[in-house]
Amino acid sequence: MRVAVLGGGQLGRMLALEGIPLGHRFTFLEPGPDPPAEALGTLVAAAYDDADALARIAGGADVVTYEFENVPAASAAYLAERLPVLPPPRALGATQDRLAEKRMFAHLGIPTAPFHRLDTAADLDPALAVTALPAVIKTRRFGYDGKGQIVARSPESAAAALDALGPGLIAERFIRFERELSIIAVRGRDGNRVFYPLTENHHRGGILRASYAPARRLTPALQSAAETLAGSIMDELDYAGVLAIELFEEDGRLLANEMAPRVHNSGHWTLDGAHTSQFENHIRAVTGLPLATPRVPGPAAMLNIIGELPDAAAVAAIPGVHLHLYDKAARPGRKLGHVNITGPDQAAVRASAERVWALLPGEPPGLPESRRG
Ligand code: AMP
Repeated sequence: MRVAVLGGGQLGRMLALEGIPLGHRFTFLEPGPDPPAEALGTLVAAAYDDADALARIAGGADVVTYEFENVPAASAAYLAERLPVLPPPRALGATQDRLAEKRMFAHLGIPTAPFHRLDTAADLDPALAVTALPAVIKTRRFGYDGKGQIVARSPESAAAALDALGPGLIAERFIRFERELSIIAVRGRDGNRVFYPLTENHHRGGILRASYAPARRLTPALQSAAETLAGSIMDELDYAGVLAIELFEEDGRLLANEMAPRVHNSGHWTLDGAHTSQFENHIRAVTGLPLATPRVPGPAAMLNIIGELPDAAAVAAIPGVHLHLYDKAARPGRKLGHVNITGPDQAAVRASAERVWALLPGEPPGLPESRRG
């Protein structure tokens, strides 16, 4: 099939790396310079609302998917009138606005941090009555990697956050979670669903730094709770493709924070830690192939390479390491690649992770446990 991808970043690159063996050809619509996916297919270098570019995509593809959720709704609608666009465009609508997203969670009975819309000074009192303090004030649209967020610890700082970020905000209760988890769920065109084991995620400065899978101390009850909530969202949206849901674990229960209608950074470990990766299962889903039930033979870790490239030879020499680089120029805060680590047991994975961390800039977040004292 000819698969068109809206976006040409590293996610598009990895979709193609896993989709080409299935016999597909890829086209990427990407406005930015030197996109990482360029080496893997045809590049249409244009804005997401460029009429000629959209017509070219519509005429030259059998199915459209995306690796970036902030595609204009009108572009997705234009394409959806002409060919299958999967995940369905309504999933974009549900994820582009944090308020709509949280309302959908609530409608489906999925627990979240208490939240309230925040647009004007008149919303401050009712919002803080729901969230209490501290509250996290976030932009509803176009926030990513912790950008567009302020933690307010007093009514005055909430008002200042509204001035700085508003209007179009959401206020949420600040959750003192035990840890952050995510579930990578996949639904096929036929409605069949598969799930990867819950992954434990560690962020710094709002950016994902490390994922560990399966999450430590993962119980069947926790996994089943995550699968139930992910399944209900996918059924509600008549979804096809990978859906990633970020969760907080608080007192043993899961709160949904946000979701992404695409392959996700916290699922990159599946490239080496599962028999079928999130990328292959996404391509299977949107092209109408049966999904592969994820088989995960052992523990895996994923460490993001951010801002600076490490000594590739030194990283590659560490046992159990799989180095993935995105062919991007180094820039502070930029995701340049990731390192997957697999091994027979958690101790082996942790030992290799420690050695990789020593070669990456910055302090290791979260694990290894042995250093936590
Ligand atoms: P988000 O953009 O919603 O994924 O938020 C980025 C990061 O900020 C999350 O991964 C959490 O570490 C933190 N965060 C977001 N919302 C909350 C909240 N309501 N309570 C506590 N921490 C939060």
